[in-house]
Amino acid sequence: METQKENASEVAPVKHKAARTPVTELSRKDLLARAKKLAKEYRVTSDKKFKLKDFPTVVSSDFGKEEKPMAQSVLQLGVETLAEMQDKLYAQDKWSLLVIFQAMDAAGKDGAIKHVMSGINPQGCEVTSFKSPSAEELDHDFLWRCMKRIPERGRIGIFNRSYYEEVLVVRVHEAILKSQKIPEKLITENIWDDRLKDIRNFESYLNNNGILVVKIFLNVSKKEQKKRFLERIDKPEKNWKFSEADLAERKFWKQYMAAYEDMIKKTATDRSPWYVVPADNKPYARIVIAAAIIHALDSMKLAYPVVSEEQHLELQRLKQVLLSE
Ligand code: ATP
Ligand code: MG
Repeated sequence: METQKENASEVAPVKHKAARTPVTELSRKDLLARAKKLAKEYRVTSDKKFKLKDFPTVVSSDFGKEEKPMAQSVLQLGVETLAEMQDKLYAQDKWSLLVIFQAMDAAGKDGAIKHVMSGINPQGCEVTSFKSPSAEELDHDFLWRCMKRIPERGRIGIFNRSYYEEVLVVRVHEAILKSQKIPEKLITENIWDDRLKDIRNFESYLNNNGILVVKIFLNVSKKEQKKRFLERIDKPEKNWKFSEADLAERKFWKQYMAAYEDMIKKTATDRSPWYVVPADNKPYARIVIAAAIIHALDSMKLAYPVVSEEQHLELQRLKQVLLSE
């Protein structure tokens, strides 16, 4: 049976204030300001009192009857802004961005990646999905397989699940920990705090190297997950998305929420924040995700490289060479 307590992340729908003036009429500058304001609402930096239940799973964007088309055009604007920023990121070739997605099954990770990153130049972006580790991966420390996928300078890397599984699924199922070939002596009650600290230090190392990290937790309610699972069973074109294992994991909802809460509390920092994104309303969640990524890219103060006077003169000379062919 579902209780409010068990489904800790489920709270009453909240109307979102920031979306009242028609967003489609905003200039790019205003849009940026609006995106930053929206992102701030769901950003967790460092908060020792962080509680998942303080964050909603449902938020209505307040577009009324126009909800769907309005949400689509707002997202479109966000996607265009992102594409422009990515072009500069690539040209500048200094910073890079890692976006991590973590969530319960059917929270909408795949759809969010598909829609939010739809305008991005594929050359400057790499998506990696992390599944159960292979035998080769288990022969290494847990960051090894992720380290290899950290984005190069000028690129955006997207992790669909990540090293955070090491303090989520592995924490909920201690049998997985036992299968990890870690020396017994190191498996103590401190292991989760040690891992969380290692992750925080690892992200600080990335930040010090010009790699910003944005972490997205798609906060779906247990009730909405049930609805989406039923849809996956009822609609033939969605059958492939459903597995019995998803139903088994659902039984551990409470343990997962506790692990997520501890993880966010102990790894959210100013430079590598978590975003607790309400995920019951997919179009709204995608707008928040775009806003969070825009906020991170904006903090890099991206600009196209400026050519020096010397380079400018050389370009003019080459132009004359071409014209006189
Ligand atoms: P979908 O939304 O399509 O179900 P998914 O990300 O859930 O996508 P799956 O293939 O269903 O993909 O599941 C991947 C599984 O791998 C998850 O259950 C996840 O918990 C598990 N996994 C990922 N990393 C680890 C890890 N380090 N140790 C153990 N299990 C892991
Ligand atoms: Mg799955």
